[in-house]
Amino acid sequence: MTLVNPNFAKELERFGEDTALECFNCGTCAAICPLIYEHFPRRMIRYIQLGAKDRILENAQELWRCLHCGLCTQTCPREADPGEVILSLKRFVVDNWRRS
Ligand code: SF4
Ligand code: SF4
Repeated sequence: MTLVNPNFAKELERFGEDTALECFNCGTCAAICPLIYEHFPRRMIRYIQLGAKDRILENAQELWRCLHCGLCTQTCPREADPGEVILSLKRFVVDNWRRS
């Protein structure tokens, strides 16, 4: 069962970029991403908006596929900065592993 935590976006602030709530799920980032992988990175940003922390942890290996090319950030119409959000999520995941 996925646990939804509306405060998760706030919790992520200490790991870097806090722009995920700006996203309106247009899908441009997933279309431009060279990985062409299951709506990445849009899906991860949606998980943040829903506070679906467990989904992010379950799919954490996907974050390390990111090339940090910056194309998603350059084309995002909402300045949600998806590339930087992915980096913040990696920090969050590493912190979670360290604590467990
Ligand atoms: S391009 Fe920006 S607004 Fe559109 S889905 Fe990606 S992060 Fe959200
Ligand atoms: S920075 Fe990462 S998520 Fe964004 S387009 Fe490049 S590979 Fe995809």
